[in-house]
Parts: sequence; C-alpha cells; structure tokens
Amino acid sequence: MDFETVIGMEVHTELSTRSKVFCGCSTAFGAPPNSQTCPVCLGLPGVLPVLNRRAFEFGLKAALALDCTIAERVSLDRKNYYYPDLPKNYQISQKYAQIGREGHLTLSMKDGTTRHVGIWDIHLEEDAGKLIHPEEPQLKGTTLVDLNRAGVPLLEIVSAPDMRTLDEMDCYMHTLRSILRYIDISDCKMQEGSLRFEVNISLRPAGSSEFGGRVEIKNLGSMKAAVKAAAYEEKRQRKVLDKGGTVDQETRLWDEEAGVTRVMRTKEDAEDYRYFPEPDLVEIHVSEDWLSVLREQLPELQDAKRMRFIQQYGLPEYDAAILASDREIADYFESCCRLHGNPKAFSNWIMVDILRVLDEQDITISELPVSPEHLVGMVRLLDEDKISSKLAKVIFSEMLSTGKHAEAIVQEQGLVQVSDSGEIENLVQQVIDANPGPAREFAEGKDKAIAFLMGQLMKLSKGKANPKMATEIFAKKLRS
Ligand SMILES: [Zn+2]
Repeated sequence: MDFETVIGMEVHTELSTRSKVFCGCSTAFGAPPNSQTCPVCLGLPGVLPVLNRRAFEFGLKAALALDCTIAERVSLDRKNYYYPDLPKNYQISQKYAQIGREGHLTLSMKDGTTRHVGIWDIHLEEDAGKLIHPEEPQLKGTTLVDLNRAGVPLLEIVSAPDMRTLDEMDCYMHTLRSILRYIDISDCKMQEGSLRFEVNISLRPAGSSEFGGRVEIKNLGSMKAAVKAAAYEEKRQRKVLDKGGTVDQETRLWDEEAGVTRVMRTKEDAEDYRYFPEPDLVEIHVSEDWLSVLREQLPELQDAKRMRFIQQYGLPEYDAAILASDREIADYFESCCRLHGNPKAFSNWIMVDILRVLDEQDITISELPVSPEHLVGMVRLLDEDKISSKLAKVIFSEMLSTGKHAEAIVQEQGLVQVSDSGEIENLVQQVIDANPGPAREFAEGKDKAIAFLMGQLMKLSKGKANPKMATEIFAKKLRS
C-alpha cells in the first residue's frame, strides 16, 4: 500500500531576555549550578510571580511575524506534573488563551515552489531545571539538580500537521529559525538548548484524510538530527504498517549514536496535566496600540525581503530566497550592492563560494575574513577586465586566508590579467603552432575545438590571458 507521511512540529525557543520570566534572576548561559536562583524560581512557599513584560512582547512579536490572530485578553495557566527538575510541581504555561493562534508560515522550497504550513498556536511558558547524572565514581548513581534554567522564558510554537515530506520539514525548521533571528527574540543556539525541535510524525494511506498513530520524537540536538530521526521513524512505521500492524501513539527519544528512536513513554493526554488558570497572575489586555508599536519595531521579514530582492536587484527567485533566508547574509549582500552595482555577481559569489566556506568552517558571515569591501574590490577588478574569473578564484582564497584586499594580492603576486593585444597575439600563435590539428578543426568550423585551444592558451599564460581578447584573436587568425 502507498503511504503518505504527515509531519507537525513543536518548537521551543528560549527568549533572549536578560532576566527570567517570573523573577529577576539572570538567564545567562554557563553560570555555576544554582547560582541564578531565588525563592520565586525555586518555588518556595508564599512567593508570587511577576510577568516579564519583555518576554511577553517577544511572544507578541513572534505571533505578529507568523500572521497569528492575537486575542485581546491573554492568560496564563498551570500545567501540573511532578518531576525533580520542576520545583513548584507545576509549570506556568498557556492553555486557554495563548498569545497567538491560527497563523501560518510560507516555505520557499528548493525547487522554486512554495508551501503553507499552519501555526496552531504560540504560547509562553517557563523552562524547567536540568538534571545532571555525574560520571565521577564517588557520585555514580546520584542525580544532581541545577535550577539555573528554571523560569527562563520559553516560547512554544506548534505547527499544524501540514508537512508531507522531510524536505518540507527541513525547510520549516530553517525558515522558522530565520524568522526568530530576524525579529531578534532568541539567539537560536541549538547546541545551548535555546532552540529545540520536536517532530510529530505519522503515516496514513495515501489520499486518506484521517490521521494514523502519531509518534512524537524528542532529544533532537540539531536540525540534521531531526531529519535523520524523522527518516528513521518513517521507515519504522512503514514496516509496522506493511505487516498489518498499528503504530502506537507514543513519545520516542532519538539516539544519535545508534541512529534509532526508542520508546520513552506511551500516550499521554492534556487531561493528565489538570490544566487550570494560574491564580497568581492577572489576565493581560493586549491593546491595538500596543500591537501597532510592536508591529513598527519588526524588521522587514524574509518573505518581503525576498520579493524586494527580485524586484530591486533583478535576482532569480531561487537566489533571492537563499540570500533573504538569513538576515546577516542579506545585509552582507546589500552592503556589497551599495558599494558597486553588480548584484548578480555578488549573489553568485555569496551563493557559491561564501556559503560553502561558512558551511565548511561552521562560521557565520560576520566572522568571515572576506568583508563586503573585500568582495567588492575583487568584483570591480573582474568587471574592469583586470583579472579573469579563474584568477578571481585564486584571489578569493587568498583573501580568505590572509584577510588582504584584492588589489594588494594582485600587485604582490603579479596576477594582473594580460590585456595587451600584441602579447596575446604572440601567445595565440604559439598555441596554433603547437596544436595544428585542433587549430585546423576550428578553422574548418568546429566550434568545440576552441575549448581545447583556450585551455592550452591559459596553461601557457598561467591563467592571465584575457579570455575575451584571446577568443577574438583565435577567430581572426583561423577563420578570416
Ligand atoms: Zn529567580
């Protein structure tokens, strides 16, 4: 039987406020255990929480950026459960009147098509602490609790089960992260836990409108891990269904090393948490005035930027989507364009060479030794025909390793392109004399032979001959 994959995602992102969501403790990462706690986040009796206005505004910004409906009155609720990392035995979250509902996210897929993924809700909650299982022999078998993270503001973004392929899921994660970074509400560092993805995945007979047994996958340390885990789970569920079995609704943990998912717990429902309105916090009234102030603070977002790049710079849809997908990369591109008017060249260099380097060295574009000024300097030399595109590649890697400017590298290494017609004519004649066969073929009208002749010429000139002039001289000598 043919099956269709149905994927939804739950995303938790730590908001980059300086203090926690219901107390004044610092949220800084990496402090000694339990050094950033107070009676409120330790859940001591008699304390009262106070909502962090900035954290709430960050939530509103996310809701605006994801086109959500924002209720006039928003409230907080208690989610009750017991776990050693949760000192109050309940988590303050939102169940009945969340910050945002019924939004959507547009995905620009690699093949140039777009998809819409619904956002069910966006809600604010507090993070729990961390359990540590020490390896030291004298502590073996004990568990330590670090409550520095307890009370750090989290935003949970729940998508509709609208994704059908792993590519869509991958694109969803990247797009969502990009938006959260654009609006600057989280640093989105997955390795520090400030961005966490959970995948809900099920299979159903193709064409069916009912949902199959849904598996939630946790413990995904990176976006790559999320895709791998979903691919594993897709296969595992298909096997179960092919044998005529049914997939149990359960939560599974991804084991990165073994490359498998394992059962963590079976089905749980909302009623297990006995949600009820938080009696210690008042309702928040979200006025239209407040929203319009926040709306004005939002930067131009990915989608709008992509369309503007197409119109303003004449970029193809695909290029515009890639450049706009990251705010820093988009800014880098526009800095180049402000200095020199060749947007397509900058877009090509960024998409081919710079993104490869960023990926290989695992750095961001602000850490790249090649600044917009560097890139512009090199593209100018290319546009003025002072260097060939082959030389440009050499100069680019030189700029990358030394941080020097293109002009300096060209002068130091004598890399200037030969555009002297006498000198090129001389080189062309040498190539013709040494390769009479291909020269005759070209003379007789075989256009392909020019590639070989030019190859020889570039070898002879060490890549410095102006290719446009050389091609013309070959034609003049052999075809006229
Ligand atoms: Zn505190």
